[in-house]
Parts: sequence; structure tokens; C-alpha cells
Amino acid sequence: MIDVNEKFCEMLGYTRQELLTMNVADWDAGFSPDSLKDKVQQTFHKPEIFDTKHRRKSGHIFDVEISAQPVWIDNQLYLWNASRDITARKQIEAERERLIQESKEQEQVLQKAKDAAEAANRAKSEFLVNVSHELRTPLNAILGFAQLMQMNEKLDDQSKQQTQRIEQAGHALLNLVNDLIDLARIESGNVKFAVEPVQIRSVINDSLRIIAPIAKNYGIKIIDQSGVSEALTVQADYSRLRQVLINLLSNAVKYNRPQGSATLACQIHADKIRLSVTDTGTGIPISLQNRIFTSFDRLGKEGGAIEGTGIGLAICKNIIETMNGNIGFESTDGQGSTFWVEFAISTAPSNFAHDGTDPPPLKTPQQSTSETVNRHILLAEDNPVNQMFACAVLDKLGYTVDVVETGIKAAEAAHTGAYDLVLMDCLMPEMDGYEATRTIRQAETGGKRRIPIVAMTANAMEGDREACLASGMDDYITKPVDIALLQKILNRWLASERQKDC
Ligand code: ADP
Repeated sequence: MIDVNEKFCEMLGYTRQELLTMNVADWDAGFSPDSLKDKVQQTFHKPEIFDTKHRRKSGHIFDVEISAQPVWIDNQLYLWNASRDITARKQIEAERERLIQESKEQEQVLQKAKDAAEAANRAKSEFLVNVSHELRTPLNAILGFAQLMQMNEKLDDQSKQQTQRIEQAGHALLNLVNDLIDLARIESGNVKFAVEPVQIRSVINDSLRIIAPIAKNYGIKIIDQSGVSEALTVQADYSRLRQVLINLLSNAVKYNRPQGSATLACQIHADKIRLSVTDTGTGIPISLQNRIFTSFDRLGKEGGAIEGTGIGLAICKNIIETMNGNIGFESTDGQGSTFWVEFAISTAPSNFAHDGTDPPPLKTPQQSTSETVNRHILLAEDNPVNQMFACAVLDKLGYTVDVVETGIKAAEAAHTGAYDLVLMDCLMPEMDGYEATRTIRQAETGGKRRIPIVAMTANAMEGDREACLASGMDDYITKPVDIALLQKILNRWLASERQKDC
């Protein structure tokens, strides 16, 4: 050591005199003795910048950046060295490293949580499919036999009324099951929304048509003050928006006063459209208003005369928010309420004008006829109660029916050509209804007559209808079976068969 400046003395805690008697190895704490020698040799040949550690007189070790270069003075080679304390920089680097590591760990935790949530969602969906199926099957028997009993002319008035009550209660239970499943599916993000430009006029007309008989029943006047033109469209899912509007209108009817009214209005502010339903009903006390969108909260109306489940508005809120809209209300206790939904107006024209009916089956059958005599139906159904019910209904409607309880037997029986139509359950042992249908369709490719196949199934979730049609079925009816609808579907398909026969 030839010379040293004051700063370096401060840095290491030695006096200048002390340092001038010392060697690099005395304060370096970064290199091993051999590698330090090599490093010093290197720097005698070319300038270098590198990191190492220094040890203070007190023993404290800290990080430094060395800038070293060879210097010739009077033909003598010296090494010029500058040490810079980089403790702060190293701390920042270490902190950065720690943060990167931490965020990697957090990412892993998040990924794990995401995987777990997705798995839970899948499990929830599967559970819902099963629950839906399991609940619909017994409901099929309850609703079906109640409908059948009411068709029995020998039944006295009191028994007729009682069976009517069974049917009503069955329907209430079915609505509850459907609502519950709907809410759970929307909440779990498992529902696909077909958001597209939707004609508001069409949604309103459709909803008013559906609510009219209910309003009439309650003696409530529905006033349409919306004045919406056909050109007005919003980005929404048609049937989901209709579901919400019907719910608001139905609440306005249910929670109204005798001879009251419900008014549908529409306001446009800048690029937003607000549809509102105002009733002249009971209103909602301020103290209860914050609970209005909470599922299963009926705000004290539970046990009262007005039927409900307390999840309609929770479903509405979920639907509207999923479609990027807003929902809200104003209410005065004892005077009535206004519930509204709000959307951005769409600039794109509506893709289609709805006629307000449910989608038709893919292959539209021809004119219906009530003739059923000599029509032979094959019923593929594994559940004995469902078999009993379907046979009783088909018998009542005048059809001849044979029952098989597996898909294999259904395919075999269909091949005999003895049947005019197959009513096919989807879930059956050995071979399910989809597979059986595909087998039947394959056998028909050789120019054989195509037999109409109608799914009669408790699989009533989104996409189930499409799955049935995709497997080769022609139509679809869900359990619990609505007898009138079944009759209509059978008439359609057997009428078109009859025309072919002629
Ligand atoms: P539900 O009608 O099946 O009970 P909703 O979720 O549609 O379920 O409504 C929740 C509760 O909010 C109702 O039980 C009722 O107490 C209250 N409510 C809803 N709409 C109105 C309304 N228009 N007027 C007064 N109260 C209402």
C-alpha cells in the first residue's frame, strides 16, 4: 500500500498509518486467498470493475464495488483502486430478489387457488346436474299423476281441488328447484350469456304477453308507457333480459294493492336506456331496503299469502351485472316501488326480431292432428314410476305403447319397424339414450324409414336440448312432463309421419 485517501480510512475504520502497513488481503472478505491473488494479477494487466466485500477494523463486513486499473509511474507498475460502498444497492437488489421470489410464490398460491376454485366449480356444476336430475324425477311423478287425476271424469270436485293443490305445490317446488339451480350456475360463472344487439320493443312485448294472465288473476292493471321504438337496441341476452323484466313485473303484480297498477316506462339519458316498473303497492320500508337483493331474504314476507322464494331479485342482479348493466330501485313504504334496469344503447342493429316464442325444434314438423288411433309408441325409460306415468298418459291420449328399459333394447325394438315414434330417456343403464339414438340413425342410413325420436328427459340444463338434437333426436321434452305439451309434440311428429305414410 503506497497511499490511501481519507475516505478509505473512514470506510474501513483504520488510520492512514495503519493502512499503509497493510495488504489487500487484510481487508478483503470476498475472495479466498488464492483467487484474490489471481484477481490482483489480472488487474495489473487490464482495468476491471467487480464486486467484493471489505472487512472493517471492527469486523463488520460490507459490500463494495471495486474499480481497479494498472498505472505506470516512472516506469514502475502500480495498481490504482477505488472502493465504493454498495451496501444500499445490494440491499435494494436483495429486496428486489425477495419480492420476485415472493411474487413467484404468490403466483403459485394463486394458481393453486384458481385450480381449486375451478375444480370446485366443476364439482358444483356436476352436483347441480345430478340434483336437477334427482329432483325432477320424483317431481315428474307428482306433477304427472296430479295432472292425470284431474283428467279423470269420475273424480268428485273436492278430490279434483285437492289434486289441483298437489299440482300447484309441485309446480312451486319445480320453480324453486329451477331458480336455485339457475342462481347457483350464474354465481359460479357457468352460464353462457348470448350477448348481442337486442330489440327492446320485442323484449317488452314478450314480457307483457307472459305477465298479462298473471296480472289479470291478481286484478292488477299493466300500463305500458315505455313508448320504445323498434329501432332501439341494447347489448344483452334476449331471454335473460326477458327473465329479468318478467321478474320485476311479476313482483309489481304480487306486491301490489287490490285493483292497483304496474307501469312500465322507459327513459333515455345520453347513451343509456333505463327500463322501469312502477307499482302502486306496499312499498319497502327503508330499514329493509339494503336486504332487497339478498338471496332467500323475503323481507318478512315468508309464511305470508304471497308465494315466492326470495331469490328472484338476487338472480336479476346477477344477470344484469353479468351483462354489464345496472339494476336499482326506489321505494316509499306504503306507496309503492320503482324497480329499474339500465343498459348502454347498442349502435348495432338487432340480428333478429324475436316473435316471443321459444326456439322451434331444429327440424320443423308439419301440421298437427289429434288422431292417435293405431299409433304405436316405443317408450325407452328405466325408472318404473316414470314408466307407469308415461304409459298412463299415452294410454289416456289413445296411443299403444311398449316399454323397454335400456338403450340397447330401444335400438333393437326400433329396428323391427313396428313403431311410429320413440320416446327416449337420456340416462339409462347399459346404453344411454344418445348412444341408442345414434345406433338407430346409423341403421337407417340404408334407406330405411326415419323414425321420429323425442327425448323425454330430466336433463334440463343449458345445452341438453342441443345434445339431444345433435345425437339425432328430433325433439325434446323435459320431465316433469307437461301433458298438453307432450300431446302437442306427439301430434306434430306423428302427423308428419302419417303424411309420409299416405
Ligand atoms: P320473491 O318475490 O320470490 O319473494 P324476490 O327476490 O323477487 O323474491 O323479492 C325479494 C323480496 O323483496 C320479496 O319477498 C318482497 O318482500 C320484496 N319485494 C320485491 N319486489 C317488491 C315490490 N315491487 N314491492 C314490494 N316489495 C317487493
